[in-house]
Amino acid sequence: RMARLATIKTLAGFDFSFQPSLDRDRIFTLAQLGFVERHEAAHFLGPPGTGKSHLAIALGVEAVKAGKSVYFCTLADLIAALSRAEREGRLQERIRFFCRPSLLIVDEIGYLPVIAGGGNLFFQLVNARYEKGAMILTSNRGFAEWGDVFGDAVVATALLDRLLHHAVVVQIEGSSYRLRQHAELMPEH
Ligand code: ADP
Repeated sequence: RMARLATIKTLAGFDFSFQPSLDRDRIFTLAQLGFVERHEAAHFLGPPGTGKSHLAIALGVEAVKAGKSVYFCTLADLIAALSRAEREGRLQERIRFFCRPSLLIVDEIGYLPVIAGGGNLFFQLVNARYEKGAMILTSNRGFAEWGDVFGDAVVATALLDRLLHHAVVVQIEGSSYRLRQHAELMPEH
């Protein structure tokens, strides 16, 4: 499924010198894929343009190279698929589908408002994968804001309970790579 990605990103293509707050060794440890074997979650948190999706995809590419099945989607796409399946009476089937890949990458948590009931659907999937398969999640919002992101504080707490139990959290503090030419917008550069 990684092949459907419009742009393939690699670790070799990531400029670590642009993100000095990022611990290169931690990323290369993740690339050894122990977290996939152990069915853990890896979180990339930080502002837009700091390379969260790039790193998530690059780790997905490493997993594919190692023969693992990987599925990449945005949170909005994932919830839309689960919601459609629920309307069609095939939710459990769809959840089983999303449980199949060894690594599920869920990108862009926090950008778009989650539709009503969406947090609950995502929780059902996360719960089904819990301790059975690895996930990578990217978000521009801190965990304390997940109640707002999912429009439901109870669901957010239950999600985080699963997603932080066996987890690696990589916080990126830097500035946007997309805006790197606009030095005047970036006090650090
Ligand atoms: P985020 O997911 O944090 O919003 P992206 O990973 O989508 O950011 O990065 C935005 C764009 O900038 C992408 O094209 C990505 O490949 C590129 N990019 C971001 N950080 C780096 C970096 N340190 N080195 C090389 N390219 C980068």
